[in-house]
Amino acid sequence: MQDFCYKPGMTSLEEAIAAMKLTIEHNQKPLSAQTIPLFDAVDRVLAEDITSLVDVPPCDNSAMDGYALRASDLLDNDSLTLQGTVLAGQVFGSLLQQKYCIRIMTGAPIPDGADTVVMQEQVSVSDEIVSFVSDPVTGANIRRKGESIAKGSTVLSAGIRLQASDIALLASIGIAEVSVFRKLKIGLMATGDELIEPGKSLQPGQIYESNRVMVNALLTQFGVDCIDFGIIVDDYETTKTAFEEANKTCDVIITSGGVSVGEADFVKSVIDELGELNLWKIAIKPGKPFAFGKLSNAWVFGLPGNPVSSYVTCQQIALPLLMHMQHEQGTEPLVISAVADADIRKRPGRKDFQRGRYRIAEDGRYFAVSNGPQGSGIMTSFQNANCYILLDAQQGKVCEGDAINILPFSQFASK
Ligand code: AMP
Ligand code: MG
Repeated sequence: MQDFCYKPGMTSLEEAIAAMKLTIEHNQKPLSAQTIPLFDAVDRVLAEDITSLVDVPPCDNSAMDGYALRASDLLDNDSLTLQGTVLAGQVFGSLLQQKYCIRIMTGAPIPDGADTVVMQEQVSVSDEIVSFVSDPVTGANIRRKGESIAKGSTVLSAGIRLQASDIALLASIGIAEVSVFRKLKIGLMATGDELIEPGKSLQPGQIYESNRVMVNALLTQFGVDCIDFGIIVDDYETTKTAFEEANKTCDVIITSGGVSVGEADFVKSVIDELGELNLWKIAIKPGKPFAFGKLSNAWVFGLPGNPVSSYVTCQQIALPLLMHMQHEQGTEPLVISAVADADIRKRPGRKDFQRGRYRIAEDGRYFAVSNGPQGSGIMTSFQNANCYILLDAQQGKVCEGDAINILPFSQFASK
């Protein structure tokens, strides 16, 4: 493996991710694409540029329920005779006659001869005579052919992760199937003799295993297939067999546990035998240890075992690497400037992802406080939190009123 990673001591998060991405780029087999129906395409990464073969809308049509007319016919009088009706889905077969108008529904093609639509609320109708309150502006209430999308224009570029709005856009230009990068197969395993599956009864010395379900849940919206390899007990042969098995089918193996100092040698020695593994000390809190390596087929990302560290490193390190492997382009987290509502404890050294709560003041400014104890085993630090408070590595204690950055968890503001 061509490796751009090795660096002694602690590495900044940004530097570590950049180096790991570079290693992936130089060693990844090309990811194939597959053509799938639009219905299944949400959250997948587009593998081709999409050019529209049609104009949207395909012809001039009415933006309103109303009356289609020739504006000049109302210059010297204020009423016109009704010539007929055109509904959406129909085409009015004949030319609009002088001093006539045509009842038209939203989306119906503008009849030949008409140049303007007046909305129905601005007319009065008696028998076949339609009277207009004021002179219309020529061209009003017409959606022009190609005004949304011009035939021949590129509407979506390869590398975007398809959102619901993209799916609608593709359908609107008549596309039923798209080419997307195939799903990455992710093998999940948790290492540790103390771990037991939820649902079973807890014996002395045991704790419930919570990292595999967490990683699976974090990745579901990212177009991958997770394959569960279960809990791996701290035994050389069992670990080796599990890695060999996962290596056959998976693109990436995500493990948790066994990468902190003291335990590292165990997982590491198995992977060293089967491939290569680097243990990174990344200047991130919670987190720090992160293992990155490659077997003959699969990449290995080793998360720390503590649940909060595991969550944050999966989200902040493993996920960007997976997105990179999927050839996703142009993704940056949405960081918002805020003000500390209270002092925040912090020691210089590592970039901190504190679980916090923000509120939006009446003047629109964001204020945030830390959400209680921040220990790397305290998963409840996410409860009632609505953002990370991002504190730079070199930052020390934060005082009330200081400028900080936050990373909201959701697009919805919580109450
Ligand atoms: P390790 O990274 O293996 O040294 O584990 C650090 C701490 O996290 C220990 O207290 C472990 O018991 C705990 N831990 C490790 N793996 C898991 C897991 N999958 N689920 C819950 N806790 C874990
Ligand atoms: Mg362990």
